[in-house]
Amino acid sequence: MAMEINKDWKHAETKMKNFWRPGDEIICTRIFRSSNNECYLCGHTPIEWHHVLLHSISNEIIDVEFSCVINMKKMLEEWGSDQKILFFPKYSDEANHINSEYAGTASMVEFNSNIEVIIELMSHPERLSYKQVKSILDHTTKFKEGVEVELFHEALDIYVARNYYLYDMLDECDKSGNVEQSIENYFRKEWEDAQCGEEEYQQATYRTFLSDENGDVDQYLNRNGHRCENEDAPF
Ligand SMILES: [Zn+2]
Repeated sequence: MAMEINKDWKHAETKMKNFWRPGDEIICTRIFRSSNNECYLCGHTPIEWHHVLLHSISNEIIDVEFSCVINMKKMLEEWGSDQKILFFPKYSDEANHINSEYAGTASMVEFNSNIEVIIELMSHPERLSYKQVKSILDHTTKFKEGVEVELFHEALDIYVARNYYLYDMLDECDKSGNVEQSIENYFRKEWEDAQCGEEEYQQATYRTFLSDENGDVDQYLNRNGHRCENEDAPF
């Protein structure tokens, strides 16, 4: 049994070495519930808490489950790197939670939400990175009026023109006919969900740890969808 675990760990290490080189930045671009994709690191499927991770240089994106985000951090430590997985501020609850499970795994993408700073950034769009465009969208989507709404749409134009939605695995938006509208809806919905999702995330993640030998829990997790309206779940 111990050898089996060792073998799986070696396999996961090989996968990690294919994805990451020392110094490379890893950004969590998106977190969502229960997908049928395979975890890049361990191959497990379905994924209960799906983390989309972007390699900021190669732009490769991988699907990783919660526990394997922590495994990635353990590998980084083994290899002498103090690097952390970067999370956007809207996922600060998730980042805090993952750090409470394994300290130092996550850190926040740095972003100054001062409006003057954002206006200055937007005046040189050619210098904007993915991280900055995404941070501006995450911040300005909270506003219903004012200059922030204009900035949101300017940033959205850049986001769409550079196909950044592919990094966030929003490629399904591409097929809907109105890419901008569906991406705008996505950012707004993510923001609304972030207002009420923390408790559900922590509870469900805890249950995922318990569910290894219990298929019933998987069924519950799949049924209890992503939106916070579904809180009348039987647990
Ligand atoms: Zn995994």
